[in-house]
Amino acid sequence: MIIQCPFCGARYEAPPGRKFYVCPYCGTVVSEGKTYESVYIFQPRVDKTAAFRAALNLKPTGSPDDLPQATPTAAELHFLPLYLYHVSFQPLTELETDAAALAMSKPPVELPSGYRFPTRWKTPFKPSLEKIGVFHQPDLDPESAFYTLGEVVEEAEAYAAVFKTKVTVSWRLEGIAYFPVWALEYEYGGRRYAAVVDATDGTVIQMEYPLSRRSRAQTAALAATAALGSAALGALTALWAGLRPELGALGGLIASTGAAVRLAAFAAARRGRYKAEAKL
Ligand SMILES: [Zn+2]
Repeated sequence: MIIQCPFCGARYEAPPGRKFYVCPYCGTVVSEGKTYESVYIFQPRVDKTAAFRAALNLKPTGSPDDLPQATPTAAELHFLPLYLYHVSFQPLTELETDAAALAMSKPPVELPSGYRFPTRWKTPFKPSLEKIGVFHQPDLDPESAFYTLGEVVEEAEAYAAVFKTKVTVSWRLEGIAYFPVWALEYEYGGRRYAAVVDATDGTVIQMEYPLSRRSRAQTAALAATAALGSAALGALTALWAGLRPELGALGGLIASTGAAVRLAAFAAARRGRYKAEAKL
């Protein structure tokens, strides 16, 4: 099906049956033949150079000291479509909140599962004829996208349980927002690695990185000591991570051999993977 953008006049091919269509050139959203009013954008404030700097200076566990000198090879700005919801939990009105869910099933960049997008600091979207990034089509309907926000609902239910209250969840769609992320690629030691950086504030969302030879050797040694028992392993792990060893030993008693297996896998891998914690 061919859609003609009411703002820039571009014609684009889009699969039928979607609730919203996004012009890939200027970002204008069309719904049921009409331009959709409530469209917002999170302003990209971090340029390509700053995004690379954020990723390469992150120093995730086991990365080589000279990672900041890696060579940037590609950078593309993507605008991910989000649905914005206002969520309420009757009868506990104090729990009312805003939430944003990714409106696409296969984002162009890898995101940690359960990654929470912010809902604040959005501004009304003004279409532009200047191409600033790639705008992506929503392919989930607002209802199924809402169910990816399970945590928001669970938190409210947990809170309500304290007051022995049962809550009824209801939501309304407030609009669509574009969230900018940098898809970066860099080269280190002849290999390529990908990174995803939040273009609104420079947070590294996800990143692949080379593991230094030293960290691989140290980790292999730690995994080998698993034979000594998990308490010893815990102590060594804590020592290596710069914590008090006795705390580690305690952790080690609790930890299963799963930790040793993970350490061994980490030592054998050539690349590490960093994922941002969910931000609230
Ligand atoms: Zn357009």
